[in-house]
Amino acid sequence: MKHLINEHIRALNPPKADLFNHDRGVFLDKSELPYGPSPLVIQEMIKAATTVNRYPEILHHSLRTAIANYTNTRKEQIFVGNGSDAIIELLLKIFVKFGENVLIPIPTFFVYQHATKIVGGNPIFVNRLDDFGLEVPRLLQKVTPELKLIFIANPNNPTANYVSREIIIKILNEVDCIVVVDECYYEFCQETVIDLVDQYPNLVVLRSFSKSFGLAGLRVGYSIANETIIDYLYRVAKPFSVNAIALAAAVVALKDIDYVNSNIEKICQEREIMAQNLAQLGCFVYPSSTNFLFIGTHSLRIPSKQLVQALQDKQIFVQDCGLQAGLDEYCFKASIGTPADNQVLLKGLKEILQIRPN
Ligand SMILES: *Cc1c(COP(=O)(O)O)cnc(C)c1O
Repeated sequence: MKHLINEHIRALNPPKADLFNHDRGVFLDKSELPYGPSPLVIQEMIKAATTVNRYPEILHHSLRTAIANYTNTRKEQIFVGNGSDAIIELLLKIFVKFGENVLIPIPTFFVYQHATKIVGGNPIFVNRLDDFGLEVPRLLQKVTPELKLIFIANPNNPTANYVSREIIIKILNEVDCIVVVDECYYEFCQETVIDLVDQYPNLVVLRSFSKSFGLAGLRVGYSIANETIIDYLYRVAKPFSVNAIALAAAVVALKDIDYVNSNIEKICQEREIMAQNLAQLGCFVYPSSTNFLFIGTHSLRIPSKQLVQALQDKQIFVQDCGLQAGLDEYCFKASIGTPADNQVLLKGLKEILQIRPN
């Protein structure tokens, strides 16, 4: 029956196998927070669990009100989705028809091109600069009247850098299509264009509870945009796609923001320590505005695939980025874990590179 599967779906790659089990090993491959939720959030999840015989809210009143407060926007400008991944797909369903173009500056988050292909759209790539910044004229060369949407991860995954709001504003001033600015790592960087949604009706900002809030397993993301876009997002979304436990947890996570901020502070401190240590081992460490480091292995003269596999043999999991669209074979990504996790990574690397501990 394979011939019955739509051609553009047949071309999709299967997901990578899970590397669990999480009891064994150090997991620095998915930019997760190494810390669990706060006791208040856990308490709230237990409470919400007692009423899961009921369907969750459809219009997410409480969480949208809490997010509006957190982001200094209005509830009507907020859509809550089952992870920001799900919102990416909903936006494509709203704006991109079969055969239409979506512009993606690379290297970047793999989901943009994957989701584009699912709706039958054409991903069009434009290369970022050597430092992974965006060059506006180069980007605009690829902007045609038919272009429907541009995805910009800011800060970018996997390269960890961000582009300034001036660059985003330049792009917004030059294009008529939808500009999605994915600010999933906002809390580690504090740069945002959320305040521009009133001015630019074609701007959609994505945010997530997965990274800085440490709720990746719950799947909650949100977007901030013009009210009309939010209205259509709620029209195309499945009514109960965000579950009741996740909704309750996210509301309390925003109330317990001191806990979140103290985690972010720990991660940012540890990030600088790791960057120095990795550089001492001969790695090239790119500047990071996220909770992970993007690391070049050219100077070690080892393709990252080999290095990542050797680490994996030691139950240390990082993400190989070698030969991803827009990248060569000498780069990988490691999230910042607990200080203990990070020491395991350094020790593993030293052993592989046969550097004697000092
Ligand atoms: C991790 C990540 C996401 C996914 O967020 P979810 O809310 O967990 O779906 C989206 N965009 C970027 C750039 C990411 O790195």
